[in-house]
Amino acid sequence: MKEVLVETSARHVHVSREDLDVLFGKGYELTNIKDLSQPGQFACAEKVLVVGPKGTLKASILGPTRPASQVEISLTDARTIGVKAPIRESGDVAGSAPCKLVNPETGAEVELKEGVIVAKRHIHLTPAAAAEMGVADKQIVSVEIKSERTTVFGDVVVRVSEKFAPAMHIDTDESNAACAFGTVMGTVIV
Ligand SMILES: [Zn+2]
Repeated sequence: MKEVLVETSARHVHVSREDLDVLFGKGYELTNIKDLSQPGQFACAEKVLVVGPKGTLKASILGPTRPASQVEISLTDARTIGVKAPIRESGDVAGSAPCKLVNPETGAEVELKEGVIVAKRHIHLTPAAAAEMGVADKQIVSVEIKSERTTVFGDVVVRVSEKFAPAMHIDTDESNAACAFGTVMGTVIV
């Protein structure tokens, strides 16, 4: 079985405990409004403004908090706010683009020296699903999405962990390019 669910990640922000304290108040707890496909991850009611030299975008926070704040946007978003966001795997933020995060209700703000990335397209797999597909952690594969604009994405990194649920994640630029709307499956090409 080489089919995987394809999910579109809208722009979002992961915040550190420290930055959440500054933005929303000391000890503030995020409000879970929707569990995401990856176990333990959730969309929050809280939104922040992502401010760059040329513009501002609103983004949802995804919980729980993480060791370092990270902003995941599309290349279109990066152009809109005027930042040079590199294509990176989640968590790899060293030397990535800076921005300011602002609480739209209170004006509280945090300067991020780095943290703005465009997520490298990736597939989350459990060890069992990876074995079934014949792929390994960190392997680069292609994925074909059949649609009105059938597209093969190369440079898709496979990530394997017991903590994952099988799903491919692409951003809104990629989703629009491939008309990957609704419930979409992709075929992994090794
Ligand atoms: Zn993901």
